[in-house]
Amino acid sequence: MEDTKTIQCPYCKELIIEGAIKCKHCGSDLTKPVQSSEVIQKSNVAGFVALIGGALLIIGLLLPWMTAGVFSVTAFQKVGDAYIFLILGIAISLLAIVGIIQKKSYGIVIVIFSLLSLAYLTYLYFQLIENVGMQGGLSPQIGSGFYMSAIGAFIALVGGAMMAQKPKKAK
Ligand SMILES: [Zn+2]
Repeated sequence: MEDTKTIQCPYCKELIIEGAIKCKHCGSDLTKPVQSSEVIQKSNVAGFVALIGGALLIIGLLLPWMTAGVFSVTAFQKVGDAYIFLILGIAISLLAIVGIIQKKSYGIVIVIFSLLSLAYLTYLYFQLIENVGMQGGLSPQIGSGFYMSAIGAFIALVGGAMMAQKPKKAK
């Protein structure tokens, strides 16, 4: 038995025999893959980053309406379905929240949604410039919301990418 290899318990750091399914010191189940608190913390941070991005995307869409105080006639409505943002923003936020609660990564989906948001924002930008007669650039009112959405989509993209990296870190 002198040849028995020992390893450190990943939970209590006491020496245990390799291949043990339960730690004799702290009683931890060693059959489950170890999720270090560091990994969990990092994925939480990534989730919150994605959540902030998703929230900014939604706020950016609503901001022109809120500051204008009118819901009926806005440049967004002239262009049409800016509601896609709202759906994408809500989807990103929900995935981030569910990801944090369930300790699961929806990073790839969030990345895809963020890229869709950015692509649609780019399309919308040119639609606004062409159709609403904003040749000199977006008006401050529309612009503030527009750029906030763009920043939000970018932050969500970063958060999603961070979340997507998580499985590699967990051994
Ligand atoms: Zn232990």
